[in-house]
Amino acid sequence: MSSSDLHDLVALPDAHKERLALDLLAELGATNIQRRGTELIHGCLVCPHHTDQARNPTASLNWDRWLYNCFSGSGGTALWLIATVQDTTVEQARAWLTGQAGLNRAMELPDLLNLFDSIYTPTRPEPLPRYADQVLTPWQGIPDYILGERQIPQANASRAGICSSPPGRDREGNYMGRRAVIPHRWNGNLVGWQSRRLERDGTPKYLNTPGFPKDSTLYNPFPEVTGRCLVMVESPMSVLRHGLAIPMRATFGAEITDRQLDLVPPWAETLIWWLDNDTAGWNATESRFTERGHYLEGIAEKTSRRHNVLVVDSPYAADPADLDTPSAEALIHQAAVPWPVWQRPAQLFCHRCHRHAHPGQPCHPPA
Ligand SMILES: [Zn+2]
Ligand SMILES: [Zn+2]
Ligand SMILES: [Zn+2]
Repeated sequence: MSSSDLHDLVALPDAHKERLALDLLAELGATNIQRRGTELIHGCLVCPHHTDQARNPTASLNWDRWLYNCFSGSGGTALWLIATVQDTTVEQARAWLTGQAGLNRAMELPDLLNLFDSIYTPTRPEPLPRYADQVLTPWQGIPDYILGERQIPQANASRAGICSSPPGRDREGNYMGRRAVIPHRWNGNLVGWQSRRLERDGTPKYLNTPGFPKDSTLYNPFPEVTGRCLVMVESPMSVLRHGLAIPMRATFGAEITDRQLDLVPPWAETLIWWLDNDTAGWNATESRFTERGHYLEGIAEKTSRRHNVLVVDSPYAADPADLDTPSAEALIHQAAVPWPVWQRPAQLFCHRCHRHAHPGQPCHPPA
């Protein structure tokens, strides 16, 4: 589509935009819809805790900005709304809108997608989703998996709001077992959560809420813990285990964006990178030449202009979350080296028995 086509769409008459929004809400099963300016007031489709949406609808869809808002604190983009109601992802919501094109329809929902993409661009990013705190309150306590297998201290888990979602059924009616829930707060808002499978129910090991902002935020459940050194890791599990003892943030994986690097707090005089000890972690950390001869700056070098940057030179075939906190502290203070001299390890060792790493095999003799 050319940019002049896009311009035509943005210039769609208001009545057409409102019609699109009414179509969308009808498709999603909204009731009690009332027109008010650029908003369509209706019964909330998102929060499970409402009781009287028939008489007092608390949600609205703005058809000028394509934003959904509920007075109780939940909200996000129209794509987030579709994904949340249909229990899919934002990508699947896009596909669903595209599939709604049809000659039998007076209005075409794909128009909505074009409108949306003309409003929100990489330089004008869409607002983050947010959820009312009450969404998580009815859920059950901290699962044994977190306290036992993952060795996360009780105080850390409760401070971070870890809970578990009850078993239920997915959109297709398949059984979904309990899941450990890791809430993610950003600027005071609950912006989503990750969940970890607790039963062998055939579901993915980790799931994220729709539009989970893993590219534009850092996991930081203990903002009160600060210091001159800040450790950067991939996984929320690492922060949960060590984050009350060691200032630590997680990037949600080894694909780290410049937007995330901009969020590293300036008080961190020394920034210590400790990604997972695997190829993805090493590739993200180190600067190198690509096969075509381009210089690719790693995260260590990128952040070295604002911080004194160290990289943990861990000999272990283990992620930070696998080590107890004293061992993690020892590595941070004794094995972190200035970023230009860090090299990916030639050999990895088992953190339990200190022999050569033996992935998938038990320690022998047992450690
Ligand atoms: Zn609501
Ligand atoms: Zn330190
Ligand atoms: Zn071992």
